[in-house]
Amino acid sequence: MKIKSAEFVISNSRADLCPIHDMPEYAFIGRSNVGKSSLINCLVERKALAMTSSTPGKTLLINHFLINGDWYLVDLPGYGYAKRSKKEQEKLSKIISYYISQREQLTSLFVLIDSRLEPQRIDLEFIANLGEMGVPFGIIFTKADKVKRAQIKGNVERFLNRLREDWEELPPYFVTSSETGMGREDVLNYIEKINES
Ligand code: GDP
Repeated sequence: MKIKSAEFVISNSRADLCPIHDMPEYAFIGRSNVGKSSLINCLVERKALAMTSSTPGKTLLINHFLINGDWYLVDLPGYGYAKRSKKEQEKLSKIISYYISQREQLTSLFVLIDSRLEPQRIDLEFIANLGEMGVPFGIIFTKADKVKRAQIKGNVERFLNRLREDWEELPPYFVTSSETGMGREDVLNYIEKINES
């Protein structure tokens, strides 16, 4: 898919205030620092469409971007940031689960996983919840340029094996690097295919 336009539409902290439209939405989520903002910027070939980490104020927001005038890319708040207060954590969980469970336009949620790490419980639990809610999702392994290919392969395989324990069929998954652009086309083509179907 060629990105012809990418524009910021709105940020808000309530899923019921998200824009009204009937276009498909593809949302991105993951632990803080997983590389979500970098990946979004890489996908749409903009340097700073999504603000990179530690920008004050953006953490609890749902950000909508209109891509090519025909689908929305949604940047959801990162989960699992240890320094958040319990109250903030609860607020965040509410925002995320409300969007994920209620948003009719949500066509696929991409869960970002750091390819440098062994499977993390917080990610596996998050994915298990998606299964219970019946939310369509894919997995994007990030930062693949940072470690040796064999290590990524091992981490990805271990993660998929953990999923196989609970799922008969694996979700679609992509191995990416925002640094090199690896996997970018695969993710965009996947989105394009669904949009055309
Ligand atoms: P977010 O909190 O999930 O939005 O994460 P960011 O996109 O802000 O990235 C967190 C850190 O990881 C930053 O220092 C990025 O430069 C770095 N980073 C993100 N993606 C990649 C990647 O694909 N390769 C490398 N080498 N670094 C990355």
